[in-house]
Amino acid sequence: MRNSKLCNMRYIRSMVLSDDWSTRHSVLANARRTAALINILTGTGDRQPQPEAVAEVLGEYGELEPIEISPDDVARMRAAALLLREVFAAGHVDAAAAALNRLLLKHTGPPRLTSHGGGTPWHPHLDSHDDAPWDEWFLASSCLALTVLLWDRQSPPGGVCASSSCQNVYVTQGQGPARRYCSRRCATRERVAAHRRGPGSTAGA
Ligand SMILES: [Zn+2]
Repeated sequence: MRNSKLCNMRYIRSMVLSDDWSTRHSVLANARRTAALINILTGTGDRQPQPEAVAEVLGEYGELEPIEISPDDVARMRAAALLLREVFAAGHVDAAAAALNRLLLKHTGPPRLTSHGGGTPWHPHLDSHDDAPWDEWFLASSCLALTVLLWDRQSPPGGVCASSSCQNVYVTQGQGPARRYCSRRCATRERVAAHRRGPGSTAGA
């Protein structure tokens, strides 16, 4: 179970340190956390990742220690990640919206506002309460962020890496040329491979 006291401490500490709340807790930051969690949770094939690996990603996105996640939590978060992958794999805004609508209908609660006991600005949540289990929080916060991004951009909120040796998902950066790879590393590897194959084959970033 997530710990509301820890959650409050996290936010209070970040505000006391005058951390930029709007940057750290922006919709885009939440969507990037979703992509990072999907990649750690589903990136090991049939094997489930270690709870420590999942906790490390949560830590990178602002969750304070100690982050208590059990193997059962990870199994349920992995099931949520597989559902969320469908939004990234959709490819077109209409299909991404349909995938999100399915998740919003079956897997999230009604919108509610929380300030985490006064520790944060009021903001929307789709989980049932502030101490909801990790998987419920993950699915609900992800659906909310991806829904707002799709609304704002009228395009899919992200995609799946075009490299055949990579299954990572990524969040689209906003305006600019369409992105195809999860990372510069994948883009470079594919560009080198295309170069080796000879003229006529290309791999854009
Ligand atoms: Zn990749």
